[in-house]
Amino acid sequence: MSLAALPAPSTGPGDGILRRQRLRESAARTYARSFPIVPVRANGMTVEGADGRRYLDCLAGAGTLALGHNHPVVLAAIRRTLDSGAPLHLLDLASAEKDDFTTALLETLPAEFADRARVHFCGPAGTDAVEAALKLMQTATGRRGALAFTGGYHGMTAGALAVSGPVSVKEPLPSGGEVTRLPYPYSYRCPFGLGGAEGERMAAVYTERLLDDPSGGVVPPAAMILEAVQGEGGAVPAPDGWLREMRRITAERGIPLVVDEVQTGVGRTGAMWAVQHSGVVPDAMVLSKAIGGSLPLAVVVYREEYDRWRPGAHTGTFRGNTLAMAAGAATLRHVAANGLADRAAVLGARIQAELAELRGRLPVIGDVRGRGLLLGVELVDPEGPSDSCGAHPADPRLAVRVREACLARGLIVELGGRHDAVLRLLPPLTITDEQVRAVLDRLAEAIDAACRDQR
Ligand code: PMP
Repeated sequence: MSLAALPAPSTGPGDGILRRQRLRESAARTYARSFPIVPVRANGMTVEGADGRRYLDCLAGAGTLALGHNHPVVLAAIRRTLDSGAPLHLLDLASAEKDDFTTALLETLPAEFADRARVHFCGPAGTDAVEAALKLMQTATGRRGALAFTGGYHGMTAGALAVSGPVSVKEPLPSGGEVTRLPYPYSYRCPFGLGGAEGERMAAVYTERLLDDPSGGVVPPAAMILEAVQGEGGAVPAPDGWLREMRRITAERGIPLVVDEVQTGVGRTGAMWAVQHSGVVPDAMVLSKAIGGSLPLAVVVYREEYDRWRPGAHTGTFRGNTLAMAAGAATLRHVAANGLADRAAVLGARIQAELAELRGRLPVIGDVRGRGLLLGVELVDPEGPSDSCGAHPADPRLAVRVREACLARGLIVELGGRHDAVLRLLPPLTITDEQVRAVLDRLAEAIDAACRDQR
């Protein structure tokens, strides 16, 4: 589809839809508040609004759209399945589509993990898979609590929220379960005020010593859960060495390690799965978002010795979404066959290098980081006092203005991170060189413009 050839729809219908959305939908609307647009068509990285404007989409379904919107390979898989007459809803019954998806998934996972793994199909969201993983490990170990990290995000259902970090979304609820919060190595705002290799080392030393302290208050937990690159937490990559330390520490103490790859999976970080950078083999991997090829799908994959569930121990009506299995299998195979993880690594490094240069010119850019095409630009107030690591205070108000200035320039970029001051770039892995250029140019212009408005 050539978007250029499309007639521009009138603005009227879009305005009415937005107005009715404001009146009828919940106050918890999120992206809809940041981006008051009504997408009517989308192709690859481009989204067209009802007002005829086009946007480059660096949100891509919060990292879901590995191949962008409506990729031909995904559409063909969906059409083929629809035309085949296969049942679209199957609970957890066997189907050719599920069988094929499982094969495609296991083929992409690290062999030493996949060779002795089981797959549990969950309810369709990432948070469902997190719940399932925690419950599985509680069942297998007979223990209750969990180890989780500052800045982590795992979803909005009770157990997933309990292991997540963001206080603003946890606060109104009673605490969900016994969770021990551990420091995640975030060099720019180091929990120990040290940063770099020393901060990373301390994060591992603290964890090990706490777990071994008989008066440390930590009852042996059912699992440790972590992201290899924190996504919502602000595109914070864990150093590979620290991740290997977490693996050693948990293995030595018989604590299952659950890696949440909901956002980092399917090539996003420059490897098919983010754990592959460090070589760590987890006990379970939580997968969703891109594995459904833009349709809802979530699974937990785990080492078979943890498969201690009784039949029916964890059910759910929507575990057999035939279209998502077909779209997901097509996506996994396309990413693998076309080396899109490697391309994400190359492009991510290029984008980071350019943003680092921009940082030299624009002191409001405090930090540029990420891995592959999971990138973050942390905005700060350079006039504010710096901490012991040299970091200035986060500037969430500037970040909102930059997001608006991006949208005005046809660029969709969402915020995240500890203070909602991190511009998060999650473009499809299919982003072209020209689109990379356009994203960088628009972003630089938007930051410049937002700074000018501030003065
Ligand atoms: N884990 C991670 C790492 C995530 O990024 C997210 C969603 N952003 C989730 C879990 C929850 O997924 P969902 O929104 O599909 O429930």
